Amino acid sequence: MTKPHLRDLTKSELESLILSWKVPRYRADQILQWIYQKNAMAVEDMQNLPHELHALLNQKTDLNRLTLISMMQSANGESIKFLTKTPDGHLCETVLITQQKRRTVCISTQLGCRIRCIFCASGKGKFGRNLTAGEMMEQISMVSSKVKAPITNVVFMGMGEPLDNYDQTMKALEILQAKWGFALSARRITVSTSGITPKILSFVKTTGGRVRLSVSLHSAINETRSYLVPINKKYGLAELTRTLDAVHQKLKRDITFEYTLIEGVNDSMQQAEQTAKLSSRLKAKVNIIPYNPIREMDFKTPSPERIKAFQSILEKRGIRVMVRQTAGRDIDAACGQLRLKRD
Ligand code: SF4
Repeated sequence: MTKPHLRDLTKSELESLILSWKVPRYRADQILQWIYQKNAMAVEDMQNLPHELHALLNQKTDLNRLTLISMMQSANGESIKFLTKTPDGHLCETVLITQQKRRTVCISTQLGCRIRCIFCASGKGKFGRNLTAGEMMEQISMVSSKVKAPITNVVFMGMGEPLDNYDQTMKALEILQAKWGFALSARRITVSTSGITPKILSFVKTTGGRVRLSVSLHSAINETRSYLVPINKKYGLAELTRTLDAVHQKLKRDITFEYTLIEGVNDSMQQAEQTAKLSSRLKAKVNIIPYNPIREMDFKTPSPERIKAFQSILEKRGIRVMVRQTAGRDIDAACGQLRLKRD
């Protein structure tokens, strides 16, 4: 039987585990403090635990499962991409983006992605597997320990569709926010989705609407969206809109749309008008991400004038819009560039 990953366990699960070893319950608090508040990366670092407990933890559990293979920093120093390997031989990518005092870790939730958006490197290879909540937590601790600084924000926007790995994503959110865990405010956490509508409502309800939701829109025209984000064929724009209407009206939560702008595909003025209409109805904010080239596709990034024109149409309709600087483009760490395989 494989050993449990310590970072997969909630407080009550860890208490049950150590009680089964006849170790007092209060030791669970100490272990969790070492993991999440003091960022211990080895059991031996947990100084106020007896040696016998160190031995038990090493023998019966894993504290870490990811092996760091490489770290690559972008030319402007803003992003670092961490490539790690799982014990079963998959590659996992995590990105740190530093902007002023904000240190945001972009974590992967799956090894590969089943959604297979046409412009995205993560969806190109063979799907590996879901990551566990502990493997998601480990990405954050590993980054924090490497840069020797606390993490201020977490975005679930790396490889994978978080809501396609729903239970583990929800557990990760619990650990991230728990007082015994990372104790991170929900406002500092964003989960991105390609639009798995049945899961969106339960996600918003379970998180009390506090965790930010970001929807990868990429087109407000059904045909174009189905081409770019194939899951749109199953959960089309009409259904997505109804779901987001409910999120916005019943739960009074704001939504952010991510819009990867690709020359000649979704950057026309008609596309901008439709995006403005939908965003206005849902009072959504729009992040425009100029397309980041990947080697498998010959899509192009629109010219700065074209990006500006698209942005202006939205602004004229009163939409809050931001053109996102493509952090990490030179190290393939920007949105849609994370991939499963190195070659
Ligand atoms: S953009 Fe997101 S949902 Fe789409 S294939 Fe890439 S990782 Fe998956």
